[in-house]
Amino acid sequence: MMAQLNSAQAAAVGQGGFPLILTLDMHGVPHRWITWQHACYYYAKERIAWSLGGTVFTIYGGISRLSGRRSEISAASIIAIRGKAMAIRSFNNVPPLNNRELFHRDRHLCAYCGGVFSTTRLTRDHITPFSRGGRDAWMNVVTACRACNERKSDRSPEQAGMELLYAPYVPNRAEYLILTNRRILADQMEFLAQHVPAQSRLRHAM
Ligand SMILES: [Zn+2]
Repeated sequence: MMAQLNSAQAAAVGQGGFPLILTLDMHGVPHRWITWQHACYYYAKERIAWSLGGTVFTIYGGISRLSGRRSEISAASIIAIRGKAMAIRSFNNVPPLNNRELFHRDRHLCAYCGGVFSTTRLTRDHITPFSRGGRDAWMNVVTACRACNERKSDRSPEQAGMELLYAPYVPNRAEYLILTNRRILADQMEFLAQHVPAQSRLRHAM
């Protein structure tokens, strides 16, 4: 199979291949990113309930022996998938904690000195250290530069006399999806932005 974009989207795709397609559950709750191959599977199985977004990809398949025509599927950039499992999984789902998304959540800003650093100079700081029963979870971690992390060492911010410049929070689904995809199409971003809570730090970047 091969995929083709119309000229308007070709610019949005850039060099790195095909953009990901955003799936929603039947209620319009953002679910996850899928590849265009995966989207074709949903289209072929007639699992698409409805679609959104101004971007449409046309994907060409093989030539049918019966009709002599080349098969094609037009996939939208945002698609709602039928199925109960989708709805259950996407609600109240705490996204997995990864450094990449954590640093992105915190805008690459060290929570202690306020400096902005590149990924390689940042660390995951446990506000309440592991050794004192702190959990490895969104609410107990912030982004810290190496120097601040070493200075804080195995202590709480109070014990170390270091003040947190911002509070940790759990990103919701929409925010997590924004954090995990670097090449979000404009219509996908517009949709996800509506689901990002007002207190999110991402709001300042949108
Ligand atoms: Zn620092």
